[in-house]
Amino acid sequence: MVDIVIDPGHGGSRNVGGSDANHASGPSGLLEKTATLDVAKRVAKALEAAGHNAVLTRTTDENLGLAARAKVAERLKAPVFVSVHFNGFDGVTQGTETFCHTTHFPKSAVLCKAVQAATVTATGLRDRNRGGVKTLDLGVLNPNSHDAATACVLLEVSFMDVPDEDRRLQTAAYKDKVAAGIAAGIGAYVATLSVGRESVPARQLQDGFEALLPSRPEVAAGQEAPRRRRTAAPKKKVAGKTERVERA
Ligand SMILES: [Zn+2]
Repeated sequence: MVDIVIDPGHGGSRNVGGSDANHASGPSGLLEKTATLDVAKRVAKALEAAGHNAVLTRTTDENLGLAARAKVAERLKAPVFVSVHFNGFDGVTQGTETFCHTTHFPKSAVLCKAVQAATVTATGLRDRNRGGVKTLDLGVLNPNSHDAATACVLLEVSFMDVPDEDRRLQTAAYKDKVAAGIAAGIGAYVATLSVGRESVPARQLQDGFEALLPSRPEVAAGQEAPRRRRTAAPKKKVAGKTERVERA
């Protein structure tokens, strides 16, 4: 059984180690830190149901520094670390996006595509990755704080400041759907780690769910994924538009 670390973004009431207590909020007053914890708990539940061991970096309304969040995965040599966030900008901009660090390992790009594809399917929102990999110098993904065995990404599920998304986030059905999507994306990635098995081509991963094979023998924690070079470089780099304001 592999350890999958889910990091609910933000928390608490003050900045800790580069992590803001909160970033985005909805018109209803829903805070990002509340939504990330809620959805992350649902992701953990979905992962456990699929036979994985899910570990949350926080389970209460507290803040952890960015390096401390990463260290949870590093200590476990977890194969997967997903930091869950919601975005906010002008109340109109909408879409789902997933980031790798600018100096990420190739495996993070594979995880990025799998998580993004499955989450876009769940949210039904615009794919702000446009089928590719977005990179940003995000502290929580800094390779210095992560084990080389860990694929790590930061997911911005949606822009919660858009009124209809704020409303959707009040319903358990939508949050469960999003969580199931995230878990399916992670499951698809974990399935590629099985020893002696051909890696699932990245193109197939974009379809998300068909690659989810939770009953397969799992790779031991810390064991390397099959060394098959995959081009991690995004085909077309999406220029960092000023829309994205969060730097968490
Ligand atoms: Zn955030």
